[in-house]
Amino acid sequence: MTIRRLESYVGGRWWRASADGALLRDASTGAVIACANSEGLDAEAVLRHAREIGGRQLRRMTFTDRAAALRVIGKRLMELKEEFYELSYATGATRADGWVDIEGGIGTLLTYASRGGRELPNARVLLDGDVEPLSRRGTFVGQHVYLPLAGAAIHINAFNFPVWGMLEKLGPAILAGMPVIVKPATTTAFLTEAVFRSIIDMAVLPEGALQLIVGSVGSLLDHLNCQDVVSFTGSAGTAQRLKSHPRVVSESVRFMAETDSLNSAILGPDAVPGSVEFDRYIREVVREMTVKAGQKCTAIRKILVPSAYVDAVQAAIGAQLQSIVIGDPRRADVQMGPLVGVEQRTEVLSALTSLLTEADCVFGRPEAATHDSLAAGAFLAPVLLSTSDGAAHRAVHRIEAFGPVATMLTYTDLDDAITLARRGEGSLVASVFTADDAVAEELVLGLAPYHGRLLIANRQCIDESTGHGSPLAPLVHGGPGRAGGSEEMGGMRGVLHYMQRTALQGSPDTLTRLGGRYVRGARQNTSSIHPFRKPFHDLAIGDTLNSIERVITVDDIEDFADLSGDHFYAHMSDVEAARNALFGSRVAHGYFLISAAAGLFVDADYGPVLGNYGLDSLRFVKPAKPGDRIRVRLTCKQKSLRRDKDWGEVRWDTEITNQDGETVAAYDVLTMVSIHAIPDQAG
Ligand code: NAP
Repeated sequence: MTIRRLESYVGGRWWRASADGALLRDASTGAVIACANSEGLDAEAVLRHAREIGGRQLRRMTFTDRAAALRVIGKRLMELKEEFYELSYATGATRADGWVDIEGGIGTLLTYASRGGRELPNARVLLDGDVEPLSRRGTFVGQHVYLPLAGAAIHINAFNFPVWGMLEKLGPAILAGMPVIVKPATTTAFLTEAVFRSIIDMAVLPEGALQLIVGSVGSLLDHLNCQDVVSFTGSAGTAQRLKSHPRVVSESVRFMAETDSLNSAILGPDAVPGSVEFDRYIREVVREMTVKAGQKCTAIRKILVPSAYVDAVQAAIGAQLQSIVIGDPRRADVQMGPLVGVEQRTEVLSALTSLLTEADCVFGRPEAATHDSLAAGAFLAPVLLSTSDGAAHRAVHRIEAFGPVATMLTYTDLDDAITLARRGEGSLVASVFTADDAVAEELVLGLAPYHGRLLIANRQCIDESTGHGSPLAPLVHGGPGRAGGSEEMGGMRGVLHYMQRTALQGSPDTLTRLGGRYVRGARQNTSSIHPFRKPFHDLAIGDTLNSIERVITVDDIEDFADLSGDHFYAHMSDVEAARNALFGSRVAHGYFLISAAAGLFVDADYGPVLGNYGLDSLRFVKPAKPGDRIRVRLTCKQKSLRRDKDWGEVRWDTEITNQDGETVAAYDVLTMVSIHAIPDQAG
């Protein structure tokens, strides 16, 4: 029988080794389904292709272009998802497990596509923060910018999420503008390869943007340089080895590690048996022990309960575990599939042996945990351990049995609970089940420095909660210490891991040009054409309108007070206003001033400006009083063309000044501007 040899995708073509290599098996039946081998692959050429072909092309695209490409990929993958579910069963995943991996992964990619399109500019440089004034006259200023690193992003992934693991890393890296080399864990590479193949078939990304190595990475790490990024997910042991690779050290290669972790779930002292929080805690613990047969980096390993409730917790968890149906995940009634393979089961059993030197088994039979009736597959029935002396032990805080295994530990008070949770020495996540926010506050203060994510579950949020074990694209995933000391995702934070932040110093003119955003003090272009008459592409950064003056009168203030209903004393009475040193005498409403400013700067006729969708960074700097004369300056500050639309967003630097040239108010006006001089219709 010939075994299907999985292929790598390198240098713009599919590549296959000349020998079979490692055998990949169906987790339930043990049948060989494919083999993987990368022997003979030129790792240095793979890196070169990424840097010289993929990176160069990706960096020519804007953030908006890259986000749009990710969107196309995500949507198409969603259409193909059933093909992936079929393969996913062979990894031991039930349909529900597969949903987390496949649809969770595609959903994460789509989140990056849509948030990237919305939150990042249609540009190649990302500005970080405001301009920093560095000189008295304002001719020398600073601006931080982000640009993509010029190397390759090497993604070394774990076996348990063959789809999610690839897509959650790929999204931010491509969005940043870095080419990616995916190295999936060999055991489940057949699923990653299938998804990757679909992405390549779409031909949406430029050549070299994505490559895949199935099998070992070979000598790849020997050729890294300071522009590459390694993002590793897997065990703490492998992370240590790779992080200390001589090349990673000597080239200061950016190295991110998401490793294993001994995550805690704490039942609050107020969550008495029978309470909503107690019931949901039990459900969550059972879910975390059985989803993906406990092979989740975020799974609950330490069940921390007040000593008074230990019997009730043990009985309730045992009752629910008893009813879990274990078997081949292709069967619709099965709730928990096998581990990924028999080697993995051997590892879990060995970890279990160590844990049993410190804790008692209170549910399951470790000696028969291989689930007798399904001998061919890598099945392992759930095992619940318990100890009342967690503080005295070491293994329960250090050894991750990466399967359906968790340990109950009792705590005496909140300090004790915090100490026990911290003994994991850095974890990805902890959850706290309490309806008492004072308990929540104390636990959060103690736990946060040791955790990347904390879930505080109470009856108000529990029905909509995404649960203890789910990393989410908008939130950071990662943790300190043992968990790897890195972060992933977290919305646009995840994109920045693939970029270099550089502090630029120079003149306002230069920084306006480099950053694509008007810097105060830079050249302004005034012409006889009102900027509101210019279609999007005719507008230039620095195009400016200086308005005529308007005198502020008492009638203005009183009319505005009546119209708006805002009769605050400082606008209505000189005597009352004088009691407040901020005003001294009667002042105009700030909102009147920005309304009056709009009256001074708008061009009233139908034209390219489609609408004003808000103001940013509004500050009222100096009060305006009856008799003051105000004027406004409006300067085109930043432009971002909306992809596939016939309009773009234009941000205007706006400053209201008084007769002495003092700033009264400063803000950004946000408008949508058509690419047509006379648009047919808005939108
Ligand atoms: P692993 O054995 O450490 O392997 C992880 C990855 O590293 C695999 O792709 C593996 O490839 C590769 N690898 C191993 N040795 C390497 C070397 N010398 N050079 C380059 N690559 C190497 O971990 P695993 O068994 O796949 O995954 C389970 C572990 O991952 C658990 O401990 C779990 O907690 C952790 N995990 C953490 C997270 C997280 O986000 N924090 C997520 C999932 C899993 P091969 O498969 O080819 O050996």
